[in-house]
Amino acid sequence: MSKKLLLKDAHIEGIRYFETYRKQGGYGAAEKALKMTPDEILEEVKASGLRGRGGAGFPTGMKWSFLAKPEGVPRHLVVNADESEPGTFKDRYLMEFLPHLLIEGMLISSYCLGSNVSYIYIRGEYSWIPDILEEAIEEAKAAGFLGKNILGSGFDCEIYVQRGGGAYICGEETALLESLEGKRGNPRLKPPFPAVKGLWERPTVVNNVESIAAVVPIIDITGAEYAKIGVGKSTGTKLISACGNINKPGVYEIDMTITVEEFIYSDEYCGGIKDGKRLKACIPGGSSVPIVPANLLLKTVNGEPRYMNYESLADGGFATGTMMGSGGFIVLDEDQCIVEHTMTLARFYNHESCGQCTPCREGTGWMYKILKKIENGQGKMEDIDLLWDIQRKIEGNTICPLGDAAAWPVAAAIRHFRDEFEWHIKNPELCLTQNYGLANY
Ligand code: SF4
Repeated sequence: MSKKLLLKDAHIEGIRYFETYRKQGGYGAAEKALKMTPDEILEEVKASGLRGRGGAGFPTGMKWSFLAKPEGVPRHLVVNADESEPGTFKDRYLMEFLPHLLIEGMLISSYCLGSNVSYIYIRGEYSWIPDILEEAIEEAKAAGFLGKNILGSGFDCEIYVQRGGGAYICGEETALLESLEGKRGNPRLKPPFPAVKGLWERPTVVNNVESIAAVVPIIDITGAEYAKIGVGKSTGTKLISACGNINKPGVYEIDMTITVEEFIYSDEYCGGIKDGKRLKACIPGGSSVPIVPANLLLKTVNGEPRYMNYESLADGGFATGTMMGSGGFIVLDEDQCIVEHTMTLARFYNHESCGQCTPCREGTGWMYKILKKIENGQGKMEDIDLLWDIQRKIEGNTICPLGDAAAWPVAAAIRHFRDEFEWHIKNPELCLTQNYGLANY
């Protein structure tokens, strides 16, 4: 059984409220942290090996150490709660059921970074959660854990919740900052990076909800102890939101030493494939990461088991080319149509493209149109190569990672399931009434 650090108290009734959270030892890490120096906290976070839980997996301590500290210029912590990646809903769970864990993590992080005014930017569709967060902020303030001179430390901190307008692109950190400033959420060209010029051109750290919540157990048990959980550079625990054709969709906390097979088939987690069907493929880290067919998902190219961690999921380079990403684990059974699935994703990225750069604005539209053609039995063999060519022209040629995120699922689908694309083209009448899975398994 995986060790629980973030969700250990999630089952306790009333844990959403300050009184219950406090009774379970909540805000103990904040009390400890406020007696430490900001540099000592930074060293603990670095020692923990915590990697950003939003998708990129960049070391959090290193990110914090890049924060510029010009004299007299305010600094900010911004929590990225714009969780819009299809298949990902673990931050929603944290904010809805354990809001004080996030507030406590923000207090510790704000103190470390020198942010007296910190923000939570939350996706507009999570319409019921800002009230939960604001209630938790008020409770923490009433108990002296926010506001002026917190616990007599001399440190002041206010937290504000800002609702997004429902644009996926605002999960990109610079688009988020633009939106937080009241502008259209267009990603900025980097450099300068937010650590130097972020919110209102002030040094800013933008971190995912889960990353900031993880700071609480890190301070609690020390960075060194946190680093002992997990394996290699995949330290600590990771929240996974599992969905698709499985028996037990939900949010799970894993310690990154379990295998993918165990995660899918064990009753502790996904509980196997629905209706006893066979596993066809999986997208292990949210819709932006490449899809992986079952044979590569359960075993590496060397025949070793594949593990639920950053290194193992990416292992094999060309073979999987996938990532842990945001931890949105989407399972597809044998009846799922890869062409239709890829088309749905292409439509999503085309709709969510901000339109600033030509390869993304035009390319996502072209990919969607071609995939729709193939899915509707009107495709030609050369369309597959055209699709491949378009995704190649998007990848690496755009301002922000949405372009790559749109290209990778198409590339992986063609790389691993080209026969299924060809089947659609060769069987136009069949693909309108059934799918490749039913016809070929
Ligand atoms: Fe906008 Fe797409 Fe360019 Fe990102 S890659 S800036 S979403 S057009």
